[in-house]
Amino acid sequence: MANTPYPQSYYAASANAVPPRPVLQGEVETDVCVIGAGYTGLSSALFLLENGFRVTVLEAAKVGFGASGRNGGQIVNSYSRDIDVIERSVGPQQAQLLGQMAFEGGRIIRERVAKYQIQCDLKDGGVFAALNSKHMGHLESQKRLWERYGHTQLELLDERRIREVVACDNYVGGLLDMSGGHIHPLNLALGEAAAVESLGGTIYEQSAAVRIERGANPVVHTAEGKVRAKFIIVAGNAYLGNLVPELAAKSMPCGTQVITTAPLGDEVAKTLLPQDYCVEDCNYLLDYYRLTSDKRLIFGGGVVYGARDPANIEAIIRPKMLKAFPQLKNVKIDYAWTGNFLLTLSRLPQVGRLGDNIYYSQGCSGHGVTYTHLAGKVLAEALRGQAERFDAFAGLPHYPFPGGQMLRTPFAALGAWYYGLRDKFGM
Ligand SMILES: Cc1cc2nc3c(=O)[nH]c(=O)nc-3n(C[C@H](O)[C@H](O)[C@H](O)COP(=O)(O)OP(=O)(O)OC[C@H]3O[C@@H](n4cnc5c(N)ncnc54)[C@H](O)[C@@H]3O)c2cc1C
Repeated sequence: MANTPYPQSYYAASANAVPPRPVLQGEVETDVCVIGAGYTGLSSALFLLENGFRVTVLEAAKVGFGASGRNGGQIVNSYSRDIDVIERSVGPQQAQLLGQMAFEGGRIIRERVAKYQIQCDLKDGGVFAALNSKHMGHLESQKRLWERYGHTQLELLDERRIREVVACDNYVGGLLDMSGGHIHPLNLALGEAAAVESLGGTIYEQSAAVRIERGANPVVHTAEGKVRAKFIIVAGNAYLGNLVPELAAKSMPCGTQVITTAPLGDEVAKTLLPQDYCVEDCNYLLDYYRLTSDKRLIFGGGVVYGARDPANIEAIIRPKMLKAFPQLKNVKIDYAWTGNFLLTLSRLPQVGRLGDNIYYSQGCSGHGVTYTHLAGKVLAEALRGQAERFDAFAGLPHYPFPGGQMLRTPFAALGAWYYGLRDKFGM
C-alpha cells in the first residue's frame, strides 16, 4: 500500500507531534463524507460536527499534505479578485453578501485557534506593499471599497511608515491589515484535525477516494474500503485529479515555490520585519514573505502554470528574496519546496452542488488560507438548509480555460508573461 509522506518542507520539519491515523479498510456509514483533509475539508468537518452531523474525512496522503500544509502562512483577507470586479459581474444583493464575507475567514481562524487551543504561532498584521504609485492608488481604492463593507482594521502606510515595518527600499507605501497576519500552516491544519477527532469525527489517511458512486445514497470508494454517506463534500482542490470530471474543466493546478532561510537570529530578523508582520507585494506575479517563530525568513513567489515541479527552486526564488533584502546574500537556504494551488479563469472560488448531495468548493486561485475556512462554514450552512451564502458563491460565473485541457497551460502562461511584463515596467 502506497504511503505518501509530507514533502521536505520547513513545516514538516517543525510540525507538532500527531498520532498515526488509520487507513480506511472495509465499509463505514456516516452523514457526511469529506474528501480531502486540507483547510476546506477540515473546516467543513469541524462546522458540521459542531452542528451534530457525523463526519468521515478521507485523505489521500496526510492531513495538510496539499497547499494547506505548504503555503506561505499568510492570513490574507478577501478573495483573489477585487470586490469591485465581483460587483461588476454579479447582482447587488450577491455582491453585498460576498463583500460582507470577505474578512470572515480570518476571524474563523482566530476563533478556531482560541477554541481548540491550536499551537500554530498565530501573529496579527499583514502588509500589502506597493512598488509604484499605480499600486498605491489601487490600495487606496481597495481600502475605501473594503470599508464600504465594514472592514475597518486598515491603515494606509506612506513611504516613511512602510520603512518602519519592512526594511526594504523597493516600496513607495502600503496597506496594513491588522485582521490579517500569519500562522504555521501545517500546525494549523494538524490542530484542526485534532479538533475534528475531539468532536467524534474520523480521519483516514493514505485513503484516496478513487470513485464516487452517485445517486440518492452515494458511496465513496477507496482502494480498500468504502464510505456510505448522505452527503459528500469534495475538497481535494489542486490535488483532486479527475475524480469529478465536471470540476477539472474549469480550473487548472498551478505550482508556486517557497524557500526558508537558516535561523537569522533575533537581531537580524528585527531589522527586516520589526513588527513581525507578513508582507506581500501588489504585483500580479507577487512575492510574499514573513518570519517564522524561530526567526527564519520564509519567502515565496512565482507561479508554474500546469503545476510541474521545478528542478531548482532555490535558483528561482533566492534572486527574488535578494531583490527585496540584498543584506541576506550570505544567508543559507535550509528548505525549498513547491505546492499546488488551483486557478480558475475568474480567480474566484468554484463552489456548487452536483445533484442533491455532492457539494464542492475549490479554486481560490492563490489566496485561500482565509477563504477555505469560510468555505467550510458556508458549506455546512448549506447542508443544514441555509443556503443563502452558499448560493452567493455558487452563483459566480465560471468558464473553461481557452485552449481546453491541452492548450490551457501555455495560454495561461502567456497571459502571466504579459502581466509579468506589466509588473516589471510598473504598468
Ligand atoms: C506554496 C503555496 C503558498 C501559498 N501561500 C498562501 C498564503 O500565504 N496565503 C493564502 O491565503 N493562500 C496561500 N496559498 C493558497 C492556499 O494554501 C490554498 O488556497 C488552500 O490551502 C487550499 O486549501 P484546500 O483545503 O482547498 O486544498 P489543499 O490544502 O490542497 O487540500 C486538498 C487535500 O485533498 C487531498 N485529496 C485530493 N484528492 C483526494 C482524493 N481523491 N481522496 C482523498 N483526498 C484527496 C489532498 O491530498 C490534499 O491534502 C498558497 C498555496 C501554495 C501551494
